Amino acid sequence: MFRPLIQGWKRLPAPVSVLSVRSTSNGSNCRLTLANKVAVVTGSTNGIGFSIARRLAQDGAHVVISSRKQQNVDRAVATLKEEGLSVTGTVCHVGKAEDREQLVATALESCGGVDFLVCVAGVNPLVGSTLRSSEQIWDKILGVNVKAPALLLSQLLPHMENRGQGSVVLVSSIAAYIPFPKLGVYNVSKTALLGLTKTLAVELAPKNIRVNCLAPGVINTDFGRVVRTKGKKLRTSVFQPPLLSPYRVGQPEDCAGIVSFLCSPEASYITGENIAVAGWSPHL
Ligand code: NAP
Repeated sequence: MFRPLIQGWKRLPAPVSVLSVRSTSNGSNCRLTLANKVAVVTGSTNGIGFSIARRLAQDGAHVVISSRKQQNVDRAVATLKEEGLSVTGTVCHVGKAEDREQLVATALESCGGVDFLVCVAGVNPLVGSTLRSSEQIWDKILGVNVKAPALLLSQLLPHMENRGQGSVVLVSSIAAYIPFPKLGVYNVSKTALLGLTKTLAVELAPKNIRVNCLAPGVINTDFGRVVRTKGKKLRTSVFQPPLLSPYRVGQPEDCAGIVSFLCSPEASYITGENIAVAGWSPHL
């Protein structure tokens, strides 16, 4: 297990220095750590994905926004452009091969290459028993949450390889560690992403492409509101972590800085990690 990663590590270059700067509202300069880079972010018109897209663009990357609905793509692109950020967008339902192809084509047309892939899109169409879940439900959840990131990455990989380095961030969930009741198939899909991260990190280390994973806790988004409502029983019975004080629900922005960091040269020696962003740690 250790040996292949070591072989990959030998090829990882030292971090490069970054000179680009941006003036902030208070007049000070901040470094644009992702200048001249291109990021593809799935599920990025709302919630966690939108916040990640905004942050990557604020840190200097050109970001390709995507999700299933054209009106959401248009709104997200317009909002970020109004903020002076460099973004393009296209419709991409990650479960559809032709949409993934269109996403890759959009990234290449507008930017000529891709440095980062952040896979945020995820679904949970069922609240109920794991063993009573239909085959259709299993296929839908595993297809969108697990298969799609791997298939999209395989389509983007030649273009990331051309750049000589790259960073991939998958978005799992704290449910990967502590299963939410009645979200069984979703829990399984998110646990699978932890394994996918480690497997891809080993496979892609020789290509100098790093693969890491975020495991958000309950975050204040449309999706998070459903989990908060349905997960009440979990929080009062099983899930009593040492939450940071004062208690607060996570915000999408809590997930954004860490993704920017994982894409930046500062993280060039980090791969194969699953990082909880939850106000607590499942490893405690
Ligand atoms: P959200 O606020 O509901 O946003 C979901 C985004 O994904 C939207 O932009 C939506 O736009 C897009 N989307 C949904 N299905 C898609 C598909 N099949 N293909 C492409 N885009 C799709 O959700 P969120 O809370 O930010 O969740 C994002 C990710 O974080 C999910 O993978 C979720 O499992 C994970 N997560 C969330 C929480 C939480 O508490 N919020 C906790 C742990 C993990 P369209 O409707 O236009 O497609």
